[in-house]
Amino acid sequence: MEKTFIMVKPDGVQRGLVGEVIKRFEAKGFKMRGLKLIQVSEELAGQHYAEHKERPFFPGLIAYITSAPVVAMCFEGKNVVAEARKMLGATNPADAAPGTIRGDFGQDIGRNIIHGSDSVESAETELAVYFDKAEILEYDYLPSKWLFE
Ligand code: UDP
Ligand code: MG
Repeated sequence: MEKTFIMVKPDGVQRGLVGEVIKRFEAKGFKMRGLKLIQVSEELAGQHYAEHKERPFFPGLIAYITSAPVVAMCFEGKNVVAEARKMLGATNPADAAPGTIRGDFGQDIGRNIIHGSDSVESAETELAVYFDKAEILEYDYLPSKWLFE
C-alpha cells in the first residue's frame, strides 16, 4: 500500500488547523503511520525543498517553513499520494477548489497551510528526510476490512 508525506505548515499549526487536517485524513480512511510536531531547521527545509533552490520564492519559503513548528505526518492508503494532493487542492489557495484544504482555509500562495508529496518517489524521499525508520509504525488498522473489498 502507498505512503505519502503530509505536513501542516507553521501557519496551519498557528491557526489551529492541525485537528481539521487530521480529521479529513482519518475520515477518508487513510492509516496514520507517523506523526510528530517539529521545529524544522534550515538544513532540513533545504533538503525538503531542494528542487526549488533556484526559484525566487526559495528564501521566503525556507524562512516560512522554519519560522514555527510544523506537524509532520505519514499516511498510508490506496493511491494516497494523488488522493492527498486532491484533498490539499491547488498550490495557490486562490486557485484551489472549495472543499479542498487550501481552498477552504487559505488565501495566499506563500501561506498555503499544508504540504503533500507530489509523487511516490518524492514521498519516499520526503519521508526519509523527516522520519527515522522506527518512527513509521506498523500496526493493525481495524477499519481496513470496512474500507477495502
Ligand atoms: N511557493 C511560494 N510561491 C510560489 C510557489 C511556491 O511561496 O510562487 C511555496 C508554497 O508554499 C508551495 C511550496 O513553495 O507549497 C512548494 O511549491 P510547489 O510548486 O512544489 O507546490 P506544492 O507541491 O506545495 O503544491
Ligand atoms: Mg511540490
